[in-house]
Amino acid sequence: MRLSPTADRWAAAGCLIALVLVAALQILLQAPPRPETADAPAREFSAARTLALLQSWDRAPHSLGTAAHDAVRDGILAQLRDLGLQGTVHAGTSYLPLQGPHFDAGYVENITAVLPGTEPAGKAVMLVAHYDSVPRGPGAGDDGANVAAMLETLRALRAGSPLRHDVIALFSDGEEAGMLGAARFVAHDPLRPRVGVVVNFEGRGNAGPSYMFETSRGNSWLVHEFAAAHTGANASSLMYAIYQRLPNDTDLSVFKHAGLAGLNFAYTGGFDYYHSPLDSPANLSLRTLQNQGHAMLAMARTLGNADLNHPRGHDRAYFAPVGHALVTYSFNQMNAFALLAILLFIAACIVGITRKAVSGGSLLAGAGIGLLVLLACAVSGAGVWTLLQWLHPGWRWIPQGQPYRPVLLGLAILAWALLVASVIYNVFGRRVRAAGLGLGALLWLLVSAVALAEALPGGAFGFLWPLLALLAAWIVIFFAPGAGERAAFRQGGLLGLGALPLALLLAPLTWMFLMLLPWAQAGAGLAVFALVLIALSPYLVRLGWKLTAAALALCMGLGVAGLARNGLAAQRAQPDSIVYREHWKGTQATARWVSYDPAPDTFTAQFLGARPARDGRMLTASAPALPLPPPTAQIESDTAAHGFRTLWLHFASLRGAETLSVELQPGMIPLGAVLNGEAVRLDPPSKRYPADGIVWGFAYHGLTPAGIDLVLTLRAGQRFRLTLTDALFGLPPVPGMDPKPRAAWQTSAPFERTDESIVSADYRF
Ligand SMILES: [Zn+2]
Repeated sequence: MRLSPTADRWAAAGCLIALVLVAALQILLQAPPRPETADAPAREFSAARTLALLQSWDRAPHSLGTAAHDAVRDGILAQLRDLGLQGTVHAGTSYLPLQGPHFDAGYVENITAVLPGTEPAGKAVMLVAHYDSVPRGPGAGDDGANVAAMLETLRALRAGSPLRHDVIALFSDGEEAGMLGAARFVAHDPLRPRVGVVVNFEGRGNAGPSYMFETSRGNSWLVHEFAAAHTGANASSLMYAIYQRLPNDTDLSVFKHAGLAGLNFAYTGGFDYYHSPLDSPANLSLRTLQNQGHAMLAMARTLGNADLNHPRGHDRAYFAPVGHALVTYSFNQMNAFALLAILLFIAACIVGITRKAVSGGSLLAGAGIGLLVLLACAVSGAGVWTLLQWLHPGWRWIPQGQPYRPVLLGLAILAWALLVASVIYNVFGRRVRAAGLGLGALLWLLVSAVALAEALPGGAFGFLWPLLALLAAWIVIFFAPGAGERAAFRQGGLLGLGALPLALLLAPLTWMFLMLLPWAQAGAGLAVFALVLIALSPYLVRLGWKLTAAALALCMGLGVAGLARNGLAAQRAQPDSIVYREHWKGTQATARWVSYDPAPDTFTAQFLGARPARDGRMLTASAPALPLPPPTAQIESDTAAHGFRTLWLHFASLRGAETLSVELQPGMIPLGAVLNGEAVRLDPPSKRYPADGIVWGFAYHGLTPAGIDLVLTLRAGQRFRLTLTDALFGLPPVPGMDPKPRAAWQTSAPFERTDESIVSADYRF
């Protein structure tokens, strides 16, 4: 057979396309399944049945202290009754001691139900989802879907054969206000000592595949049970490493801190709906619900029959090389794998040089050019978000730091990296032998894999296994004799085979980085993608400027299409924030409008004017003092004994506010504090919370008209200033002002204070 002079170019193009398809197939294999209909067998989880449950009570935002919250609580209790289960409400004041001197507190009402097992005396499996929502979103994805899924799971468990262990369902409250329900459960719930393992279910959005993204430490037995459960959820120990970089926490953080073992499941697609007024049951993905609910039922069945008296094991890395088939190994093996990678790299270089397939110089050139590509991708990636905000100024308001519809633009960013790499290889790589380029560039994959194996063992797999496969491929290529076109053709094919783990593991991880992290950090994602590209540099060089042209066309086409699909609309609204703030000094009130936006928009300008003043990260403008009645403080008792002053204060909001904040004057920490009968842990000043400038206080969520009681223990004779601030959802009517509501393409900011009236007053005691 004679090969045409361009045969290996066709082979290179074919291999690249095949690798892209393999990566895409992997992402498709990990996509959520088809939802089960309402007539699915009774033992199965059905998304359709679950949605019907959710729709019966999730109609409005239901944060702590609202009437809608009580309606949701009653809806869950009624559905538990329908299942023949007794729902118990454990209500009371809770606070989160993990937060330091300035903490969240509130009145929470946890709901628990117990499905008895055949060994009721032993440890129990606890499923957790929170039923409160944020103040301005109905919270169907976060976390109503998981609450309804728990009800459907309890039903399916009852329909099947009984489990060994009891299953506790905890419908936790006040998660959005600072994981208050979980804190209350850990501190007071009579079921707390029975818990053997916790499985928490969350939503950061309302779509996409379900991920098991977090475990407690010493996870070997948990990972084993997870693999045995065949949940259909995606899992990789790298996700947890990424999660730790995100500003998110869930109830599981509280349970883990209390020493409980546990797993955490969440979906992260549809981030634009997260905490948004549009996070309603109608917008929830049924596939996602099926994925998450199936995982919940499978975990409950598996753990319900597992041995729960496990000592904490060692830590394991885990990932799915294809679809959901899980591979796991101990962190203790990481050093051996890292050493193997180093030895194999050295061996490949020696074999290549002795077989005269590469020279030392070409290996060095390969490493040098690879580094140039890495740096160029990282630096240009770091500027992507700034560029997009310049092209699309409205995105300066978007808090998640990436566009609402990120897929096309994400692909455009990857095409940009390909363009950068292709140009650099065309300019600098043409005179270097392809094997030197490809093998030399693997130095950076080796450095990444070894560094991660030491620093972040759970995240190393995505780098380590592709590297080992590529090194093996190069050694085979060096031993395969021959020269000329046919050999080049064969080498291309062998490299493609060796690059399969790269396509299966590292390429999807790059995509996950890009879809999960704010694009201000896109440089990190592109640096990882650059590792993929430089490993494939022999193809890039072979395809020359044709590839450059294709990458440019892709980047431009995807970029333009991505921008066009992201115009502002009701589903992709521009968030803004506006708050009325009033402060009382003595009998005088002053007021101002406050916004946390980069600039006024057409809605907020009605309050702020066109040129508001800037105060730190706030925009402010003066407002008429209405005035609104300030929160009140009343001395119930004030006694002195044994050198201590004990001051019992009662606080209330005369205008029915949902939240009340209490702050002592800066630098002052009480000797003791009891909030509504709950003793508050007082950490002494530390490096993390230094004494000067510290503000001790709390925000109390879910305030009732009865108000709250705070008993402070102080040094005898100690006098101080205290600031009370209450917040009521909704902007107050202002005489003479008739503001137009937001346009369809505008919405209230999901993560900032907005659409509230806030009134504060200083008191001296
Ligand atoms: Zn949540």
